[in-house]
Amino acid sequence: MSIVAIVGRPNVGKSTLFNRLIQRREAITDAVSGVTRDRHYGKSDWNGKEFSLIDTGGYVLGSDDVFEAEIDHQVELAIDEADVILFMVDAEDGITGMDEDVATLLRKIKKPVVLAVNKVDNPEREANAVEFYNLGLGDYFTLSSTSGSGTGDLLDKIVELL
Ligand code: GDP
Ligand code: MG
Repeated sequence: MSIVAIVGRPNVGKSTLFNRLIQRREAITDAVSGVTRDRHYGKSDWNGKEFSLIDTGGYVLGSDDVFEAEIDHQVELAIDEADVILFMVDAEDGITGMDEDVATLLRKIKKPVVLAVNKVDNPEREANAVEFYNLGLGDYFTLSSTSGSGTGDLLDKIVELL
């Protein structure tokens, strides 16, 4: 079965989307650093196409260096394992240095990368999302993982790539 991995820095909403898509709460969702979180696997389907979904947690270990290295490690694991990478960023925060680091890793790979701009809860954030073109990954999808808006178009694209 094809594998889709959700990657991105902490608190962008990866687990919220994961939980929504697998319709079963397996991943730990929290906004608190200092918790050791694991990778979580689930099954999902869209338009009759089944796929495995990985929620990459990231381990928060205190030092910023280790922390960023762990995110990079999770991204590298996902690149190895997945058929499609869903790279999630956060429209509330805009582009951060960690987003740029992840984008740099993802621009080098041959596998399809889908850029998902989350927390687009209102029209202003929709308009501001254009800044994410600067990540150099092309077009993006906007969504709100909490409300579910935008997830249909995103899933259409993902299953098209499987
Ligand atoms: P992760 O660390 O990337 O897995 O992020 P989480 O899924 O744990 O979410 C981090 C925080 O962002 C939580 O408080 C979520 O409720 C919040 N969040 C997730 N998606 C959205 C969204 O679409 N809009 C808003 N406003 N908040 C969101
Ligand atoms: Mg999470």
